[in-house]
Amino acid sequence: MRRSADELAKMRKAGRVVAEIHEATRAVIRPGVTTAEINEVAADVLANRGARSNFLNYHGFPAVICTSPNDMIVHGIPGDYVLREGDILSVDCGAIVEGYHGDAAYTVGVGEISDVARRLIEVTERSLWAGIDQLVAGNRLHEVGRAVQKVAEAAGFSVVREYVGHAIGTAMHESPQVPNYWPGTPGPTLKTGMVFAVEPMVNVGTFDTYMLDDGWSVMTADGKLSAHFEHTIAVTDNGPEVFTVL
Ligand code: MG
Ligand code: MG
Repeated sequence: MRRSADELAKMRKAGRVVAEIHEATRAVIRPGVTTAEINEVAADVLANRGARSNFLNYHGFPAVICTSPNDMIVHGIPGDYVLREGDILSVDCGAIVEGYHGDAAYTVGVGEISDVARRLIEVTERSLWAGIDQLVAGNRLHEVGRAVQKVAEAAGFSVVREYVGHAIGTAMHESPQVPNYWPGTPGPTLKTGMVFAVEPMVNVGTFDTYMLDDGWSVMTADGKLSAHFEHTIAVTDNGPEVFTVL
């Protein structure tokens, strides 16, 4: 779907709130902090900005962010998990402003982290930006996944298949999906006004996953580390515009 200038202005506001949540949550991540405390920081930003949460009560999800440590890929529920030196933590955040959605995620190290963890985080973020570069009018959507996959696999890592990015607007998850790999077809042609959440999930080992009994937490099948970066981006006449940055 193509969004009007007025709609894009609202999505820009929602994206800015998400970026503020990123900044505020990053600032409190350190050994000894619980993931529930990080969720409270995010809830405070939403309240202060008069924004609504698109995560809370999403199919019953009980928090305003997802917190996924180490071998948890995505969708972790904030709770009494205490961050430890050497952990990595993926934080996925969203906001609704004037009916329009923003959605973005990052992964960060807790204190000193291993070389492979640091490299995983760097490569995953770089793969996201490689994907974003493909969001140009006239290009085909699945070039995004091809670019993400190329960066991740060149580093010796794998890209998760079962969870993907998505179009976004008046709902968080709209069609079409945005795979983080080449799915074998070029996908729709990109047009100005389209808005997508691109969100590579990159694993040190296998891309296979399983889910914990809580029905949410998605884990790497081999117990190795996973990282996740995401932005909400519009296709514009001037190239990709990332909404979820300050
Ligand atoms: Mg997200
Ligand atoms: Mg998303």
